Amino acid sequence: MSKPRVLIVEDEPGIADTLQYALATDGFEPHWVATGAAALQRQREAPADLVILDVGLPDLNGFEVFRRLREGSDVPVVFLTARADEIDRVVGLELGADDYVAKPFSPRELVARLRVILRRSARAPAPAPAQPFVVDEGRRQIRFYGRVLELSRYEYGLLKTLVERPGHVYSREVLLDKVWDERSESLDRTVDAHVKTLRAKLKAVAPQLEPIRTHRGSGYALAEDLPPSL
Ligand code: CA
Repeated sequence: MSKPRVLIVEDEPGIADTLQYALATDGFEPHWVATGAAALQRQREAPADLVILDVGLPDLNGFEVFRRLREGSDVPVVFLTARADEIDRVVGLELGADDYVAKPFSPRELVARLRVILRRSARAPAPAPAQPFVVDEGRRQIRFYGRVLELSRYEYGLLKTLVERPGHVYSREVLLDKVWDERSESLDRTVDAHVKTLRAKLKAVAPQLEPIRTHRGSGYALAEDLPPSL
């Protein structure tokens, strides 16, 4: 089994060193960054299995980093906090962090907690079978082959409608009704314009596919023959 990868986001080198040492000794693969921006970038490029996140960072605060991490992933996050009011916020606001550790902390205790969290996330239900589109209504997010699409409100509404019934041809009229709230100000070409921008975003993920099909004179439908994975 490969070593669990842990991203340490901490601007104090002394603490980061201690953590890296404790984690490496205990069979983890640690990686250290000192800023929120570096953490977000690292997590996009080489996602860790768990993130240890200091609340007081020089650029973004840890809560903001946490919020942005959560936009694209469910990676477990453990906050490192130095102050009682930060702990109150972690606990009281129910941010959805997996745990927190108050500084100063015992590295051994922290490592033990990480093990518990990783065991818990390993027991989480297996991911659903591969499918091209996954809609997360709670976050108003759609993933296309695993990639979160950056969608405007109407693009989201349009794509969600199409994805719910692959193969069903929706007229522009029906799409306007279902997706747009200010019906009187909208025109058919509004739908076309949004389909166009949506197609460009889908193309950026899968250039060879045509997920939204045009049915001349009648409207649009989601292709039924998309491969389950790329
Ligand atoms: Ca700090």
